[in-house]
Amino acid sequence: MISKTLEAALNDQINKEFYSEHLYLSMAAACSSKFNLDGVANHFIVQGQEEHFHAMKYFNFVLEKGGNVELKDVKQVKTEFASIEEIAEETLEHEQFVTASINNIMDIAIKESDHAVASFLKWFIDEQVEEEASAEAILNKIKLINGNGMGLLMLDQELSNKVFAPPVA
Ligand code: MG
Repeated sequence: MISKTLEAALNDQINKEFYSEHLYLSMAAACSSKFNLDGVANHFIVQGQEEHFHAMKYFNFVLEKGGNVELKDVKQVKTEFASIEEIAEETLEHEQFVTASINNIMDIAIKESDHAVASFLKWFIDEQVEEEASAEAILNKIKLINGNGMGLLMLDQELSNKVFAPPVA
Protein backbone atom coordinates (compact mmCIF):
# COMPACT_ATOMS: atom_id res chain seq x y z
CA MET A 1 0.00 0.00 0.00
CA ILE A 2 1.06 3.50 -0.83
CA SER A 3 -0.90 6.77 -0.80
CA LYS A 4 -1.80 8.44 -4.09
CA THR A 5 0.25 11.48 -3.04
CA LEU A 6 3.39 9.45 -2.43
CA GLU A 7 2.79 7.36 -5.55
CA ALA A 8 2.62 10.56 -7.63
CA ALA A 9 5.70 12.05 -5.93
CA LEU A 10 7.73 8.88 -6.50
CA ASN A 11 6.62 8.74 -10.15
CA ASP A 12 7.76 12.35 -10.58
CA GLN A 13 11.08 11.37 -9.05
CA ILE A 14 11.48 8.49 -11.56
CA ASN A 15 11.02 11.08 -14.31
CA LYS A 16 13.57 13.42 -12.70
CA GLU A 17 16.15 10.60 -12.48
CA PHE A 18 15.67 9.76 -16.18
CA TYR A 19 15.96 13.48 -16.94
CA SER A 20 19.22 13.49 -14.96
CA GLU A 21 20.47 10.56 -17.05
CA HIS A 22 19.72 12.49 -20.26
CA LEU A 23 21.27 15.70 -18.92
CA TYR A 24 24.53 13.97 -17.99
CA LEU A 25 24.69 12.17 -21.35
CA SER A 26 24.19 15.52 -23.06
CA MET A 27 27.03 16.96 -20.98
CA ALA A 28 29.18 13.90 -21.84
CA ALA A 29 28.56 14.48 -25.54
CA ALA A 30 29.58 18.15 -25.24
CA CYS A 31 32.70 17.28 -23.21
CA SER A 32 33.79 14.90 -25.95
CA SER A 33 32.77 16.71 -29.13
CA LYS A 34 33.17 20.34 -28.13
CA PHE A 35 35.86 20.36 -25.47
CA ASN A 36 37.88 17.25 -26.47
CA LEU A 37 37.83 15.99 -22.89
CA ASP A 38 37.01 12.30 -23.26
CA GLY A 39 37.91 11.52 -19.64
CA VAL A 40 35.44 14.13 -18.36
CA ALA A 41 32.93 12.73 -20.88
CA ASN A 42 33.51 9.29 -19.33
CA HIS A 43 32.73 10.77 -15.90
CA PHE A 44 29.36 12.06 -17.17
CA ILE A 45 28.55 8.76 -18.92
CA VAL A 46 29.10 7.00 -15.58
CA GLN A 47 26.96 9.69 -13.87
CA GLY A 48 24.23 8.92 -16.41
CA GLN A 49 24.45 5.21 -15.59
CA GLU A 50 24.09 6.05 -11.89
CA GLU A 51 20.97 8.13 -12.64
CA HIS A 52 19.48 5.24 -14.61
CA PHE A 53 20.15 3.01 -11.60
CA HIS A 54 18.42 5.57 -9.34
CA ALA A 55 15.37 5.70 -11.63
CA MET A 56 15.11 1.90 -11.57
CA LYS A 57 15.46 1.82 -7.79
CA TYR A 58 12.36 4.06 -7.47
CA PHE A 59 10.64 2.10 -10.27
CA ASN A 60 11.11 -1.23 -8.46
CA PHE A 61 10.12 0.26 -5.10
CA VAL A 62 6.83 1.69 -6.39
CA LEU A 63 5.94 -1.72 -7.86
CA GLU A 64 6.99 -3.50 -4.68
CA LYS A 65 4.68 -1.22 -2.69
CA GLY A 66 1.78 -2.16 -4.95
CA GLY A 67 1.73 1.21 -6.68
CA ASN A 68 1.51 2.03 -10.38
CA VAL A 69 4.51 3.19 -12.35
CA GLU A 70 3.60 5.89 -14.84
CA LEU A 71 6.40 6.88 -17.19
CA LYS A 72 6.07 10.36 -18.63
CA ASP A 73 7.89 12.29 -21.35
CA VAL A 74 11.39 13.24 -20.37
CA LYS A 75 11.85 16.99 -20.81
CA GLN A 76 14.27 18.08 -23.54
CA VAL A 77 17.72 18.60 -22.00
CA LYS A 78 20.13 21.39 -22.79
CA THR A 79 22.52 20.53 -25.62
CA GLU A 80 24.71 23.65 -25.87
CA PHE A 81 27.28 24.41 -23.20
CA ALA A 82 29.62 27.39 -23.38
CA SER A 83 32.40 25.95 -21.23
CA ILE A 84 33.44 23.05 -19.04
CA GLU A 85 32.97 25.36 -16.05
CA GLU A 86 29.35 25.96 -17.07
CA ILE A 87 28.83 22.18 -17.19
CA ALA A 88 30.31 21.78 -13.71
CA GLU A 89 28.22 24.63 -12.29
CA GLU A 90 25.02 23.26 -13.77
CA THR A 91 25.81 19.78 -12.46
CA LEU A 92 26.02 21.13 -8.91
CA GLU A 93 22.82 23.17 -9.34
CA HIS A 94 21.02 20.13 -10.75
CA GLU A 95 22.11 17.91 -7.84
CA GLN A 96 20.89 20.56 -5.37
CA PHE A 97 17.54 20.57 -7.19
CA VAL A 98 17.36 16.74 -6.92
CA THR A 99 18.22 16.90 -3.21
CA ALA A 100 15.37 19.38 -2.61
CA SER A 101 13.00 17.13 -4.54
CA ILE A 102 13.92 14.06 -2.44
CA ASN A 103 13.66 16.10 0.78
CA ASN A 104 10.15 17.09 -0.30
CA ILE A 105 9.10 13.45 -0.75
CA MET A 106 10.64 12.66 2.64
CA ASP A 107 8.51 15.46 4.17
CA ILE A 108 5.38 13.85 2.70
CA ALA A 109 6.41 10.38 3.96
CA ILE A 110 6.97 11.77 7.47
CA LYS A 111 3.64 13.64 7.37
CA GLU A 112 1.87 10.42 6.38
CA SER A 113 3.91 8.33 8.85
CA ASP A 114 4.89 6.04 5.96
CA HIS A 115 7.98 4.53 7.56
CA ALA A 116 8.70 2.20 4.64
CA VAL A 117 8.94 5.10 2.19
CA ALA A 118 11.00 7.15 4.68
CA SER A 119 13.39 4.23 5.18
CA PHE A 120 13.70 3.73 1.41
CA LEU A 121 14.37 7.43 0.84
CA LYS A 122 17.14 7.52 3.44
CA TRP A 123 19.49 5.81 0.96
CA PHE A 124 18.88 8.60 -1.55
CA ILE A 125 19.31 11.33 1.05
CA ASP A 126 22.72 9.91 1.95
CA GLU A 127 23.54 9.45 -1.75
CA GLN A 128 22.79 13.13 -2.44
CA VAL A 129 25.37 14.23 0.14
CA GLU A 130 27.96 12.35 -1.94
CA GLU A 131 26.56 13.59 -5.27
CA GLU A 132 26.71 17.22 -4.18
CA ALA A 133 30.18 16.84 -2.67
CA SER A 134 31.51 15.22 -5.84
CA ALA A 135 29.91 17.88 -8.10
CA GLU A 136 31.35 20.62 -5.91
CA ALA A 137 34.82 19.04 -5.87
CA ILE A 138 34.92 18.90 -9.67
CA LEU A 139 33.66 22.49 -9.96
CA ASN A 140 36.34 23.68 -7.53
CA LYS A 141 39.06 21.86 -9.47
CA ILE A 142 37.88 23.41 -12.74
CA LYS A 143 37.92 26.87 -11.13
CA LEU A 144 41.43 26.21 -9.85
CA ILE A 145 42.58 25.01 -13.30
CA ASN A 146 41.19 28.28 -14.72
CA GLY A 147 41.54 27.16 -18.35
CA ASN A 148 45.12 25.89 -18.00
CA GLY A 149 45.66 23.16 -20.61
CA MET A 150 47.93 20.97 -18.48
CA GLY A 151 45.51 21.16 -15.57
CA LEU A 152 42.59 20.20 -17.78
CA LEU A 153 44.51 17.23 -19.19
CA MET A 154 45.31 16.04 -15.67
CA LEU A 155 41.65 16.27 -14.65
CA ASP A 156 40.67 14.52 -17.88
CA GLN A 157 43.12 11.71 -17.12
CA GLU A 158 41.81 11.37 -13.55
CA LEU A 159 38.17 11.16 -14.64
CA SER A 160 38.89 8.69 -17.45
CA ASN A 161 39.34 5.97 -14.82
CA LYS A 162 35.84 6.20 -13.40
CA VAL A 163 33.63 3.12 -13.89
CA PHE A 164 30.04 2.45 -12.94
CA ALA A 165 29.72 0.06 -10.01
CA PRO A 166 26.12 -0.63 -8.97
CA PRO A 167 25.82 -0.14 -5.19
CA VAL A 168 25.17 -3.37 -3.28
CA ALA A 169 22.62 -1.83 -0.92
MG1 MG B 1 20.06 10.62 -8.96
